Amino acid sequence: MIIIVGAGLAGLACASRLEEAGEEWLLLDAATKPGGRVATEVTADGYRLDRGFQVLLDSYPTARRLLDMEALHPSYFDSGALLINRDPSGNLEFSRFLNPLAHPNHALGSLLSPAFSWSEKLSLAAHALVQILTPDGWLLKNETGHSTIEELHRLGLDRGMHKRFLKPFFSGVFLENNLETEASIFRYDLKKFALGRALLPSCGMGAIPQQLASRLPAARQKYGTKVTALHRNGDRFTGVTLDDGSEMECDELVLATDEQGTRFLLGLPPGRDWHAVTTLYFTGESPLYEGGLIVLPSCDNGQVSNFCDLTNITADYAPHGRRLLSATLLNPQAVDNQILVSLVQAEITSMFPAFADWQFLKELSIRQALPPRLPGYGKELMATRFASNLSLAGDQVTLASIEAALSSGLDVAESLLAKS
Ligand SMILES: Cc1cc2nc3c(=O)[nH]c(=O)nc-3n(C[C@H](O)[C@H](O)[C@H](O)COP(=O)(O)OP(=O)(O)OC[C@H]3O[C@@H](n4cnc5c(N)ncnc54)[C@H](O)[C@@H]3O)c2cc1C
Repeated sequence: MIIIVGAGLAGLACASRLEEAGEEWLLLDAATKPGGRVATEVTADGYRLDRGFQVLLDSYPTARRLLDMEALHPSYFDSGALLINRDPSGNLEFSRFLNPLAHPNHALGSLLSPAFSWSEKLSLAAHALVQILTPDGWLLKNETGHSTIEELHRLGLDRGMHKRFLKPFFSGVFLENNLETEASIFRYDLKKFALGRALLPSCGMGAIPQQLASRLPAARQKYGTKVTALHRNGDRFTGVTLDDGSEMECDELVLATDEQGTRFLLGLPPGRDWHAVTTLYFTGESPLYEGGLIVLPSCDNGQVSNFCDLTNITADYAPHGRRLLSATLLNPQAVDNQILVSLVQAEITSMFPAFADWQFLKELSIRQALPPRLPGYGKELMATRFASNLSLAGDQVTLASIEAALSSGLDVAESLLAKS
């Protein structure tokens, strides 16, 4: 029997492969439903609130292999962003920056855009081209040893392009403001965003784990079941204790838990803090802007890192006639919820006056959202094969993304199949 602890994307991918191969497995998760950090709450009024602003990229190879994309009823973002800059006199400048590979009709407009200098546009295009021509495996295995911000300095992309596009965009991807993340991850993400389109399933991001879980036998999935201790006999892990006091035996154990959960179960000291993120959801009736774009404000003293009218992507995220906006905050400066909401409302209203009529819906704060991936992070990752019959999966052993979680779950399953 193989016990998998954690039914996030990594645990579900592992279970999917073991089921395909006819193995005996059992999936245990403390939460009441599958998905871990990828989840969607449907409110009584019919709003779909993802657990933080998340997207699936259709350029993720393992996601394409494991998921029935069409059955998710995907709606696609435009590839690019609506950039908002405040000039020295305080006037707002709006410009659309679109990926010419995804929107060839706008290629000339993006090329001639006065928002950035020619040298910055050419440098970014050349850098993206190099990554496109580099195999994924090479990008993922070879750390550069320097941060994203250092890479942007070296490329001469640390002026307007940094302030108005690269910093607000990639700080939202890495969930950190200083772009300290290892540059190899920037290169990989740049390639995936250049070649792919971001999408939302019509029922919310939670539809992704739901789809994986629905294809697996229900009797092998136990939710609301927390593992509180592991049983060890020398180098072997022989079973687990559950929160109701019962015990289960296993031949192989997979911890597809988040890093803090794994450390707790293994009796290791807590690891570094992960990046936190706060998402505020608002609803209204009046459209703010046109197009399926994320909005990137480049104001230095603002609260909001990015925001998006999700109903511009898919009307299914809100009840009929209503709209839903998600605002992402990386370092909220107000602890009081009401003050924070007022600050964010004022900030977005200063860019889109129609937002004054919108109402606050909900705040979601995730303290352990993404693990930091600073230069040298590879040496700090937990080992995939922790003991002779204990494997780890998920973003604790690899990059932090939907793709990385899925592929690490598959890798662990393959290594167990190779052993049997
Ligand atoms: C706000 C936010 C935005 C993101 N945006 C994107 C994005 O746009 N694109 C992208 O590709 N990635 C994004 N990510 C990253 C991506 O969601 C994660 O990397 C991925 O979901 C991690 O999956 P996992 O299976 O490794 O871990 P988790 O999803 O954390 O799953 C771990 C599971 O283990 C369970 N567990 C833990 N301890 C125990 C225990 N003792 N007993 C039983 N169960 C236990 C938990 O309940 C949980 O279900 C985002 C993440 C966040 C938080």
